[in-house]
Amino acid sequence: MIVIFRNIDEQDIDSMTKWLNKQGVSMQIFDNDGTIIGKLYGNIKAIDSRFLYEWKSVINVISTECNHALAGNSKGKRTVTVGNVTFGQEFVMIAGPCTIEQEQDLLTVARAVADSGAKVLRGGAYKPRTSPYSYQGLGSEGLAMLERAGKECGLMTVSEIPDAQLLSQFDHIDILQVGARNMQNYYLLKQLGKCNKPILLKRGLSSTVDEWLYSAEYIMSEGNCNVILCDRGIRMGDRCVVDIAQLYNSLEMTCLPIIVDPSHACGNSNLVLPLSRAVASLAIDGLMIEVNADCQKTLCDGVQSLSITQYQQLVTQVDTIRRVI
Ligand code: PEP
Ligand code: MN
Repeated sequence: MIVIFRNIDEQDIDSMTKWLNKQGVSMQIFDNDGTIIGKLYGNIKAIDSRFLYEWKSVINVISTECNHALAGNSKGKRTVTVGNVTFGQEFVMIAGPCTIEQEQDLLTVARAVADSGAKVLRGGAYKPRTSPYSYQGLGSEGLAMLERAGKECGLMTVSEIPDAQLLSQFDHIDILQVGARNMQNYYLLKQLGKCNKPILLKRGLSSTVDEWLYSAEYIMSEGNCNVILCDRGIRMGDRCVVDIAQLYNSLEMTCLPIIVDPSHACGNSNLVLPLSRAVASLAIDGLMIEVNADCQKTLCDGVQSLSITQYQQLVTQVDTIRRVI
């Protein structure tokens, strides 16, 4: 366990040391570039970390059992800026089709979501499909369409990168998405840690928050700290579920911005609006919503995609909730 102090307050440190010693714990103090840190040794299990905040100079108590040195919350919240958008500072709407299929539909959606205040256009060009016989995406051609639509509508762009070898194809895409299925592809994460683009890291289908943060740690420890987390629910039976209580906890556990993707969590467009309303009441940093010009015809995730009208309704309701909160 580590205790971070606001400053060297001899009286506080003395009285805490005495109290800790009585519990069978010793504390070693060191100054890490101006940050005063107390490292606790011994019978740590006897300590309820919440109690340590009774000492007024304590800023933070960190459990070292869970060692998210960079992605953890010990240094306060981080922001991630992409062009004119700052995650962690403003509520960011990301919207667009699951997959890029044809340019005209993409443009129709891009114009509509930009008019409703979205800042980022999503669209998959490389699609991780359960069946190898399902539509796999347009690849580099799709990325070029996304770039053009983003430029035309003044939107930043995000698309999933499944393999670091494709990095050069993503030169003109603003945010690189790591899909749920790749959250623990550590070799991909390390490569993305060496590039200078923001990474949207989705939570794995069966991952704990601890594992999710370790994946962020893989990217950050290679030097790229521009990571945005995206909770897209975890698998429970036939559906995925966003655990709202745990989401609240995740927001407390990390310094990184967290957005929610209710489309993949719900798997059904009827549920996207109510789930968006529910999570918008927490201090999340944005939403990512699948929107399609023609949900019936699309080759990928049409059942969970919203029409443009449904999306506009969602934005109005989420805005209202956020104003109340
Ligand atoms: C997607 O965003 O289209 C996608 C496939 O998401 P996930 O990786 O969360 O399933
Ligand atoms: Mn999808």
